[in-house]
Amino acid sequence: MTHIIDGKEISQNLRDKLKKDISGLKNKYNAVPGLAVVQVGNVAASSVYVKAKTKSAHEVGIEIIDHHLDESTSQDQLLELINTLNNQDNVNSILVQLPLPKHMNEQTILDSIHPDKDADGFHPFNVGKLSIASHNDENLLIPCTPYGCLLMLKGLKIDLVGKNAVVIGRSNIVGKPMAQLLIKESCTVTVAHSKTKNLPDVCRNADILVAAAGRPEMIKGDWVKEGAIVIDVGINRIATQRDGKTKTKLVGDVDYNEAKKLASAITPVPGGVGPMTIACLLRNTAIAFKNSKNFFH
Ligand code: NAD
Repeated sequence: MTHIIDGKEISQNLRDKLKKDISGLKNKYNAVPGLAVVQVGNVAASSVYVKAKTKSAHEVGIEIIDHHLDESTSQDQLLELINTLNNQDNVNSILVQLPLPKHMNEQTILDSIHPDKDADGFHPFNVGKLSIASHNDENLLIPCTPYGCLLMLKGLKIDLVGKNAVVIGRSNIVGKPMAQLLIKESCTVTVAHSKTKNLPDVCRNADILVAAAGRPEMIKGDWVKEGAIVIDVGINRIATQRDGKTKTKLVGDVDYNEAKKLASAITPVPGGVGPMTIACLLRNTAIAFKNSKNFFH
């Protein structure tokens, strides 16, 4: 029987663990981790994400330092704020919600966050640290979505060593860090992308298939090897007909109903990878706090 990987449950377990952990840190240091959340402008989806992140942070005992700036804020003003937060003691990690307004350079902004306070793990210093890391990752700040995928794989309690892993997508926020994490687990990793030749055959070789292309239901059932583990990162909103009306629904990059027939384990969309991302953001904030206290030394 195919195991449906329940992202909501795994995320809840992780947040329960974090809550206990943070309560212990509060007793030990008389302080709690602080997460600065910076939003510029009023993109509706960003406001939804910020609200969800803030709520989850409060639930585990993380203090939120909220900065909602006007759309007209200049890049220099934002850099000044980040500089202040970089030097503020009660701020352990800084999250700048993307996308930023067009007059700003996102990479310049992300690079200005101090690597020790890099909530998303996107800073080149942390990207480099992940690529040279060995087995010990307890103090690393790791991009949240791929780390969430790895936790789901580890939760299956199977031996990852030597497995053929195919990651579809080479973005800096999902595909590349996912590949690094799987290399660290001693998988044999192939990174496929929009220029990959004969993608179906590449996928058919995968014991672990991670789809992060942003293409609705692109991965067909017969691309999936029997017994493979399928992790679907894609979140795509598509039109659908219901009761004679056109509505929308969320689907992943994988044709779920077909792939489910062959996979040994698979993540649904929604309710799979999505809930893991916020939990891993909170984890990064707790790690940044611990690092600031030399907890791991
Ligand atoms: P991106 O657009 O930055 O990267 C997509 C990658 O897919 C690129 O490297 C591209 O080469 C590859 N690709 C595109 N079309 C392809 C094709 N036809 N065949 C093979 N490869 C192809 O996207 P991203 O930011 O990495 O996100 C990928 C997907 O994951 C999106 O659907 C996004 O919404 C979703 N996402 C989900 C979460 C979450 O929390 N679950 C977080 C981040 C991203």
